[in-house]
Amino acid sequence: MDIFHDNPMLQGVRQMLGAFARQMMRPVAIQHDREESMPWDLMKAAQGLGMTQTAMLDGRRRLTGVEEDPDPAKPKSQARIGVAASEELAWGCAGIALALGGSNLAGAPVARIGTQEQKQELRRLLQDTDEHGHIKIAAMALSEPGTGSDISGLKTSARLDGDHWIIRGSKQWITNGRSASAYVVWAQTAPEAGRAGVRGFLVARGSPGLVPGKKETKLGIRASETAQVHFEDVRVHQDMMLGGAHAGDGPASGLADTKKMLDATRPAIGAQAVGIARATYEYLLDRVRGGTLHGTPMASHQHIMFELADMHMEIAASRLLVHRAAWMADHHLDNVAEASAAKAHAARTVQAVTNRAMVLLGEEALESGHPVEKWYRDAKIYDIFEGTGQIQRRIIARQLTGVNPT
Ligand SMILES: Cc1cc2nc3c(=O)[nH]c(=O)nc-3n(C[C@H](O)[C@H](O)[C@H](O)COP(=O)(O)OP(=O)(O)OC[C@H]3O[C@@H](n4cnc5c(N)ncnc54)[C@H](O)[C@@H]3O)c2cc1C
Repeated sequence: MDIFHDNPMLQGVRQMLGAFARQMMRPVAIQHDREESMPWDLMKAAQGLGMTQTAMLDGRRRLTGVEEDPDPAKPKSQARIGVAASEELAWGCAGIALALGGSNLAGAPVARIGTQEQKQELRRLLQDTDEHGHIKIAAMALSEPGTGSDISGLKTSARLDGDHWIIRGSKQWITNGRSASAYVVWAQTAPEAGRAGVRGFLVARGSPGLVPGKKETKLGIRASETAQVHFEDVRVHQDMMLGGAHAGDGPASGLADTKKMLDATRPAIGAQAVGIARATYEYLLDRVRGGTLHGTPMASHQHIMFELADMHMEIAASRLLVHRAAWMADHHLDNVAEASAAKAHAARTVQAVTNRAMVLLGEEALESGHPVEKWYRDAKIYDIFEGTGQIQRRIIARQLTGVNPT
């Protein structure tokens, strides 16, 4: 039993996506990991369940069939639905889960600060299928060679030329970077303004000068595509600058404002880490229940059962942190420290659980294609993207004292 037990809507999301993860994701997870291939068929099937590539614009109604109360003062359920869904999907396969939801990284800033015209444009760009017959997806391009955690050093520039911006620069580690039909790219429009000058632009695939680059070969979450993207003097109409047509329209239309979104999405990233940890723990528990060691039941061996007891505690603690942070977001409470704590704790838990599982299983888990070997590799990313472990600790520390530790 957990804090969702008296909420039928959240229970429903969990059951539906749990079944999807078990029946549709698990059977193909190892194959997509080995091939480093996107699960295009599953992505199409997921749309039918409401996991659309424009989910951030559509709201959660498509997943639950329930409309949010439009009164902005009322509690919402979006963050809690997000964590319920994220845990189940990552339990199925974290790489496939990111392939299913990666377009949201681009959809989120458009939903938050985009104009109606920009929202319509993103919907239009993601309609129908691409030249390969695949559903269309989107990418959010912020990180650059040398600029990940600290965006103040962003090198990609946007220069005004008449009623167009000319974007120049290279991005790397971009989810959906090669295959996207729509890109939200962040560029510096006014170097003297520092972070406030960083603005987002909605850019269509096929725009002259937009060149998808090398696809990365990764340790984990290999069913999700990660690639470089180059912007070689790409002309973008000023109407496609997120939040307003001019540089200096104010921080509320720039990256500084969209960073607040992370307080809502970090719990969902933490929930993914919980999903992988739970998958690993359940695998071990199954093994222990039926297994013997040196002729006696595995469950009677203290060194094994203490490990499982530790995993049980840590996973439960991470999940509670995740649920608390999501509950606070839904209730419009400041959850900056709690969201970072949830993400950082879950990242630590999933790495500890998968690491210990590798030790307990011994040499069998070293085999390529073993599920625990895959989960061990998938776990590492949770300490890196959406803010590294160190960055989460900086955020928590700043909330504690108001001072940025150096
Ligand atoms: C699979 C994958 C998918 C990704 N998808 C996207 C995407 O879709 N779009 C996108 O824009 N980016 C994406 N990224 C990039 C990701 O967001 C960055 O890798 C991340 O922000 C870290 O940046 P970095 O790699 O440049 O590391 P750096 O920022 O260079 O950090 C290197 C090390 O220094 C530490 N560090 C940095 N600053 C501080 C500090 N102030 N105090 C203490 N320690 C510090 C970090 O914690 C880390 O350990 C993705 C990355 C991966 C691996």
